[in-house]
Amino acid sequence: MSGAGSLVNVAATRVGTRAIGPGLRSVVWVQGCPFTCRGCMSPDWIPDRPARLVAPGELAAELLADARVTGLTLSGGEPMAQAAALAETVARARAERDLSVLCFTGYRLERLRRDPPDPGVARLLACVDVLVDGQYIAELNDGRGLRGSRNQRVHRLDSRAGEEEYDFEDRPRSAEIALEGPSALLVGVPPPGLLDAFDAAVDAVRTRLSRNAMEGNGT
Ligand code: SF4
Repeated sequence: MSGAGSLVNVAATRVGTRAIGPGLRSVVWVQGCPFTCRGCMSPDWIPDRPARLVAPGELAAELLADARVTGLTLSGGEPMAQAAALAETVARARAERDLSVLCFTGYRLERLRRDPPDPGVARLLACVDVLVDGQYIAELNDGRGLRGSRNQRVHRLDSRAGEEEYDFEDRPRSAEIALEGPSALLVGVPPPGLLDAFDAAVDAVRTRLSRNAMEGNGT
């Protein structure tokens, strides 16, 4: 779906979180990733299939729904595979409010500059303040910082005032669990063990709900 024109193929959004970057941010996770890192925390978002296709202006408005939000975080999935539509989303959002932009990518920055996977990569890089690059390597997960594993690098491309003090590389991890109806979303780079515990809790709740439904149906 990286060729979905000017639409963003959205896996999930979260408006107003402190779990993934400096200050209060809104996050968009895109659907589709060309990588298959072992231990990826969002394997459901790897397949390149249509999820929720949203126009950039509409997505920008959704992410700005909380007036206190001062930053956007782009994650996934692979944001650089949808760079043109995301760059347009950022432009629309910044037309309304001054925002910092943090972006996670499985590509190395050098590769993005040398051989961009989408025609919009240069435009998106030009609006990113902080880029966390590289694929996730489970053996190098040291449980620290706002990056999944030690090989991933933090590039301060155009850091905004106040973000210089934020310790992307080494800060203690934190995560939020956002509940929306029957679905649960883990926001942030989780401390070791939390992802397994989260998955087990979600499975337990799903099992209980389906058992209740079956009992309610008299089956
Ligand atoms: S690059 Fe990120 S989203 Fe893609 S497979 Fe690796 S960890 Fe998962």
